[in-house]
Amino acid sequence: MKLIIVGAGISGLTAGYYAQKAGFEVEIYERNISVGGLCTGWYRKGSYIDGCIHWLTESKFGNLNKLWKEIGALDDTTKIVNFDYYNQAIKGDETFSYYLDTQKLEAEMMRFAEGDGDKKLIKRFIKGVKICKRNAITTHKPYFQWNFLDKLHFIFFKALPIASTLKRDSQLSLGEFAQMFKSPMLQFALKNTLIPCEYSLYSLVSTLGGIAAQNAGVPLGGSLSFANRIKTKFEQLGGKVFLRSDVENIDVENGKVVGITLKDGSKRTADFVISACDLHYTLKQLLKGKYNIPQIDDCNKNSEKYPVFSSFLLSFRTNKDLTNVPHNRYKACIPFDVLGETQNVISIKHFGYDPTMIKNGYTTFQMIFQTNNETFDKLQAMSREEYVAFKKDLGEKIIAKIKETDGDLYGDFELLDIATPLTYKRYVNTHKGSFMSYMYTKNTKQMIIRNDILPIKNFSLAGQWMMLPGGLPIAAMQGKFAAMHLISERDKKK
Ligand SMILES: Cc1cc2nc3c(=O)[nH]c(=O)nc-3n(C[C@H](O)[C@H](O)[C@H](O)COP(=O)(O)OP(=O)(O)OC[C@H]3O[C@@H](n4cnc5c(N)ncnc54)[C@H](O)[C@@H]3O)c2cc1C
Repeated sequence: MKLIIVGAGISGLTAGYYAQKAGFEVEIYERNISVGGLCTGWYRKGSYIDGCIHWLTESKFGNLNKLWKEIGALDDTTKIVNFDYYNQAIKGDETFSYYLDTQKLEAEMMRFAEGDGDKKLIKRFIKGVKICKRNAITTHKPYFQWNFLDKLHFIFFKALPIASTLKRDSQLSLGEFAQMFKSPMLQFALKNTLIPCEYSLYSLVSTLGGIAAQNAGVPLGGSLSFANRIKTKFEQLGGKVFLRSDVENIDVENGKVVGITLKDGSKRTADFVISACDLHYTLKQLLKGKYNIPQIDDCNKNSEKYPVFSSFLLSFRTNKDLTNVPHNRYKACIPFDVLGETQNVISIKHFGYDPTMIKNGYTTFQMIFQTNNETFDKLQAMSREEYVAFKKDLGEKIIAKIKETDGDLYGDFELLDIATPLTYKRYVNTHKGSFMSYMYTKNTKQMIIRNDILPIKNFSLAGQWMMLPGGLPIAAMQGKFAAMHLISERDKKK
C-alpha cells in the first residue's frame, strides 16, 4: 500500500518512519532543498546558522525520549548539553542566572527578593518547577483512541501529580506573575526570559521543570542534523524523500484521497495521504478551502484569546573566542522601536559551546526577539523594495544596539542573515509566520484536533497545529498519531 506524506518537517518525517515500519511504501514530498521544516539550519559564508532547538523536551528520559530514539533523532552518538544555567538576565550591574538546579535557582531568586511577599512567590514558583520535573507526556496512541484504562493511567500517573500546579499556574500569565514581585530584578528576569510574557505561568514552570530535570537539553550538531538523522533512519527502512517537490493539491475523488498534484502539474497516485504541513495551509491551499475545522475557525476569529507569535532572528559571526561569554543572556538596553513595538533587551545566544558549529575560527551568535500578529501584517503589506530596505535598516540598528549595550563583548562581528516572520511563511507556508501553534495563554483552552477530523477516506492530518502549544514534541507525536490512524484504517480493511 502506498502512502504519500506532504511535508518533511519533524511531523512528516515521524509519520513516515512509523508508517514505513508498519509496512507502507512511503514517499515524502518536501518543497525545500532539505528536510526538517522549521527544525532547520543553513549556511552563510561557510558558517552554520541554527534555526531551531533551544531546548529539546525529554532529551534524557520519558516516553517522548523513547520516540526521539526510535525515529533516530537522537542516537548513541548524539551528545546532549545541559548547561549550568539556561540564561542570564542582566540589568545595570546585576546578573540573575536561571540555574537548572532548583536549589541554586531558589537561592538565586531569594538573593533578589524584596520582602516576605516575594519570598512566598519564590517558594510557590520553585515548588511548581520541582513538581514539573516529572514528565507528563504520553505518546503511545492518539488521544481520541484512548480507552478507559488509558485515561485512568493518565489521570493517576501523569495528570494528578501536577494537577495543583497546572490549575493554579495556568490561570495567570507570566507577565502578571512577574508584576506580583516587588523586586525590579525578578520582574525583569521573569518578563524577558525564555518564553513570551503572554504565555501562562505554567508554560514557564513546566519548561523549567524539564530543564531542571536535565531532561530538556540541546543536542550538539544542531537542528538540521537532528532532522537529517530521522531522514536517514526512514530511508534505511526503505522510505523515499523527494526534495524540491512543491505540492499544489491533495487529490480527492468521491470522498477518498487518491494522490497529490505537484506544482509542475504532474500527479502522484497513492492509497493513503498524510498532510504534515501547517494546518491552515492544508485547508486553504492543498484542499482548496473545501473543508474546514470549526476549532481552527473559532481560534482565528478569537485571535485575542488565541494569539500567534513569531520572531526576528538575526545571525552574526565573530572570530572572537566566546568560551568565557555566557552562552545565553539578555541585557536591559535603551529601548528601541521595531515596527511600532518597543524592545527593551538585547537577547543573545551564541554557539561557542558546540565545537561542530565553530567553522574556520568563526562562532555564530544570534539575537532573537518576539513579534506579534500585527508585525506580520505590516511586513506582508510592504513592497519588495520596502521589505529589503527594512531588513537593511534593522540589521544596522541591531548592530548599533549590540555595540551600545554590550561594548566589544562579541568582538568584531558581522551580520550573516536576518529571518523575519515572512521568512518562515515563505519557507514552510506557515500561518502568519508563526513557528509554534497558538500561544498557551491564561485564557486559552487546550485544543486537540483528531487526525481523522476531515471527512476524507484514507487521509490523516499531522503537524504541530493539531494540539497546543505546538513545538517539536507535538509535531513528532502528531506525526506518529497520523500514521497510527492510517495503519489502523488499513488493518481494518485487511
Ligand atoms: C527560531 C525557532 C526556535 C524554535 N525553538 C524550539 C525549541 O527550542 N523547542 C521546540 O520544541 N520547538 C522549537 N521551535 C518550533 C519547532 O521548530 C516547530 O514546532 C516544529 O519544527 C514544527 O514541525 P512540523 O513538522 O509540525 O511543521 P513544519 O516544520 O512547518 O513542517 C512542515 C513541512 O511541510 C513543508 N511544506 C509546506 N508546504 C509544502 C508544499 N506545498 N509542498 C511540499 N512541502 C511543503 C515545509 O517546507 C515543511 O518542511 C522553534 C522554531 C523556531 C523557528
